[in-house]
Amino acid sequence: MSEAKKPAGRAGRNLELPEHLKAYKGVWVFIEHDRGSVHPVSWELLGAARRLADTLGVGVSGVLMGGPDEPLQDHAQEAFRFGADTCYLMHDPVLKGYRNEPFTKGLTDLVNQYQPEILLLGATTMGRDLAGSVATTLQTGLTADCTELNIDPATRALAATRPTFGGSLLCTIMTLAYRPQMATCRPRVMPMPQRQEGRSGSIVTATLGMVETDIVTKLLDFIPDADRDTVNLTYADIIVSGGKGLKTPDNFKLVWDLAKVLGAEVGATRPVVQAGWVEAERQVGQTGKTVRPKLYIAAGISGAIQHRVGMQDADCIVAINTDANAPIFDFAHHGIVGNALQVLPALTEAFRTHLSRRVRQAA
Ligand SMILES: Cc1cc2nc3c(=O)[nH]c(=O)nc-3n(C[C@H](O)[C@H](O)[C@H](O)COP(=O)(O)OP(=O)(O)OC[C@H]3O[C@@H](n4cnc5c(N)ncnc54)[C@H](O)[C@@H]3O)c2cc1C
Repeated sequence: MSEAKKPAGRAGRNLELPEHLKAYKGVWVFIEHDRGSVHPVSWELLGAARRLADTLGVGVSGVLMGGPDEPLQDHAQEAFRFGADTCYLMHDPVLKGYRNEPFTKGLTDLVNQYQPEILLLGATTMGRDLAGSVATTLQTGLTADCTELNIDPATRALAATRPTFGGSLLCTIMTLAYRPQMATCRPRVMPMPQRQEGRSGSIVTATLGMVETDIVTKLLDFIPDADRDTVNLTYADIIVSGGKGLKTPDNFKLVWDLAKVLGAEVGATRPVVQAGWVEAERQVGQTGKTVRPKLYIAAGISGAIQHRVGMQDADCIVAINTDANAPIFDFAHHGIVGNALQVLPALTEAFRTHLSRRVRQAA
C-alpha cells in the first residue's frame, strides 16, 4: 500500500498491521454447545467463515471446548460437514458447563498459539459474555451484533457491519492494527450453509492447564427455566406478526387465530410488546429477535427500520396495511392494502378451508 493510502487513525496514527501480526492466518468460529447439542448459530457462522476464508485464500477452523464426557468429537465431525477444515478440541473437567474464566483462558491460549486472523462467535448469552472477555484479554477489536461480514479488498481486513444510532444507520468497522479481528452475529442473521455429507477435516487437541481451585465461580447446579425458550421464534418457518395498527389487545387475537391455522409462531413489534399485548420474547427487530422464516405475515406493521432489520431476510413477506405508502410495502414481496381487522379473519378462514380440504384429499 502506498504511503498516501495508509489508513490513519485519530491524530494521524498509522493503523497498518504491525509486522509481528502478519503471521495471523485463518478464520475461526467458536462452536457453542450445551447439553449435547450445538447452537445452530455456530453452523451459520461456519457458513460465513467459509465465505470469508475463501476470499482470503485461508482455512476455516472451529473451536470446541467442554467437559471430558461431552461429545466434542461428534460436534467436530458435524462442523466439518458445515465447512470447517480443522477443529481445535479442548476437553477438561473445569470446562463442563460454561464459566467465563476457564473458557476465556482456553480460547485466548488457543488464539495466542495458533494465531487466527478472524474469530467469530454467536451473539448469544454465552457468546456475548465470552467475546467481550477474550477481546479484552487479547487487547483486540470486537464488533458486536454484526449484520454483515465481508473482506475489505484494499486492506484484506474484516469489514464488520452493524446498526448504529438506534438502528437508523449502518456502520462498517474494521480492526486494522490488531489481531485477531473479532465479531459476533445474532442467530439467524447469517444463512444456514448447506450441510455436506462425507466432508471431513483434521482435529487438533489442546489442554487447558487450569484446576478447579483457580476458578472463582462455582457451578453448583443447572436449573432449567421452565418459562424460557418456549417461543421458538428465531427458527420458526412461518411467523404471523402484528403491530400497533391492530389497535387493541383484543384485535391482536386475530394474529393468534391465523398463526394457529398455519402452525406458525406469533411475532410482534416493539410498541405491541411495550403495551403488554404479548411477551417480550415475541418482539422482532433490532432490540428483539432476528428471524428468517419461509413466510412472514406482517399485519398493521409500518415497517420501521428497527423492525425491518429483524425480518427482512424472510423468504416471503406478506404485508397488510391500510396505508399504501407504509414503508413495509417497499420491501414486502406481496402487499395487501386493507384493514387487517377484516383481512386477517378472511385469511384464517381461507387457509382453514384450504388446509382441511388437503387433509381430506390425503386421507
Ligand atoms: C433504539 C430503538 C430500537 C427499536 N427496536 C425495535 C424492535 O426491535 N422491533 C420493533 O418492531 N421496533 C423497534 N423500535 C421501534 C420502531 O422504531 C417503530 O416505532 C416500531 O417498529 C413501529 O411499530 P408498529 O409498526 O407496530 O407501529 P406503527 O409505526 O404505529 O405502525 C402501525 C401501522 O399500522 C397501520 N394500520 C393502522 N390501522 C390499520 C389497520 N386497521 N389495518 C392494517 N394496518 C393498519 C398504519 O398505517 C401503520 O403503518 C425501536 C426503536 C428504537 C428507537
